[in-house]
Amino acid sequence: MSTFQAPKGTYDLTPPDSAKFLAVREAISAPLRDSGYGYIETPGFEDVELFARGVGESTDIVTKEMYTLTTKGGAELALRPEGTASVLRAALEANLHKAGNLPVKLWYSGSYYRYERPQKGRYRHFSQVGAEAIGTEDPVLDAELIILADQAYRSLGLRQFRILLNSLGDKECRPVYREALQTFLRDLDLDEETRRRIEINPLRVLDDKRPDVQKQLTDAPKLRDYLCDACKAYHEEVRALLTAAGVVYEDDEKLVRGLDYYTRTTFEFVHDGLGSQSAVGGGGRYDGLSEMIGGPALPSVGWALGVDRTVLALEAEGVELDIPATTSVYAVPLGEEARRALFAVVTELRRAGIAADFAFGGRGLKGAMKSANRSGARFTLVAGERDLAEGVVQLKDMESGEQSAVPLAEVVAELTTRLG
Ligand code: ATP
Ligand code: MG
Repeated sequence: MSTFQAPKGTYDLTPPDSAKFLAVREAISAPLRDSGYGYIETPGFEDVELFARGVGESTDIVTKEMYTLTTKGGAELALRPEGTASVLRAALEANLHKAGNLPVKLWYSGSYYRYERPQKGRYRHFSQVGAEAIGTEDPVLDAELIILADQAYRSLGLRQFRILLNSLGDKECRPVYREALQTFLRDLDLDEETRRRIEINPLRVLDDKRPDVQKQLTDAPKLRDYLCDACKAYHEEVRALLTAAGVVYEDDEKLVRGLDYYTRTTFEFVHDGLGSQSAVGGGGRYDGLSEMIGGPALPSVGWALGVDRTVLALEAEGVELDIPATTSVYAVPLGEEARRALFAVVTELRRAGIAADFAFGGRGLKGAMKSANRSGARFTLVAGERDLAEGVVQLKDMESGEQSAVPLAEVVAELTTRLG
């Protein structure tokens, strides 16, 4: 071990476990790529103001969890704590919404940073795959995104997850509810910080996890009773579409989520095997966000799924991903001349599109065969001086154990055929 370690709240992805993360990213993005979502990549840092405005001044993310920095040039930047604000900023900057094809459907995958108290499933550096559908107000779009996330989790073999669904109302009905809730909350026995929250973002108080707070909230006014007719109809349509698609969800009228920009549809994917870090993903509609960051009105909806917690969920359910071996052929040279000859074969195999690896460092047969086994390769090629003198290599099928001599000049063609 060196004198350095990964910073607190972070961890490294190393083989073989790292393959699981790649597989999860692949599985989450596949349904998106098949549904008209284009890939977008944005910088790992942004103007701090983008998040202050876009995520919300009163959120934990902005008040406590952001990594901020001042550059030598005096710019105030923040490592991105989430993806939506950046993606919308980039879409506006590139005028994607003016290309005429709404919604603009985008997916992304990357690292996010939050200064949190590290614990299992909660890190300071974590990874998300996300999707955003920008510029269209249509319940079918909300339903599409939830269905695609459900499909992604199912394709991974996850079963013990639940979808929580709520509507947060819109700019017509939410203010009325907000006031009713504030009136109710002001009479409760709460600490200073929570009292402040009542004034800035009262809905967040509903999200308070402390039992003594939750106990006082039983009779709180319910947002559902305040939804305007348009929001009610919209929400009913989303619910009906999910039901028609066979996607099971639970109505959760307490689900408010940690970001300020959500309107109407909000949802969370929770996994019951994860203890207190149970949210594996979440999202919702954010009709006002574009205007909040200086853009035109662009009603939008999106989600972000946490890769780290999805991997933990797979482990909790005991799901073993079927990750195929990356190496198909492993070459073991015995001696100088064989080294050159087999390395040439390996290069040729690779150019022919066959995944091949090589026993480097002139190791003995036993150690090299151990590496061949570990690589998961279906075939090994072994050659020594005598084989080369005869112009052949020994081709061994690692599954059947069967071995035969193949002319050196034909080995690539032979392997191409055998690997189908
Ligand atoms: P939580 O309530 O657990 O703090 P959140 O509401 O802050 O989650 P979002 O901002 O909605 O989370 O991010 C979407 C997903 O990203 C989460 O469901 C989770 O899987 C993942 N995520 C968020 N924060 C972290 C973190 N600190 N470490 C690991 N994964 C995280
Ligand atoms: Mg959080």
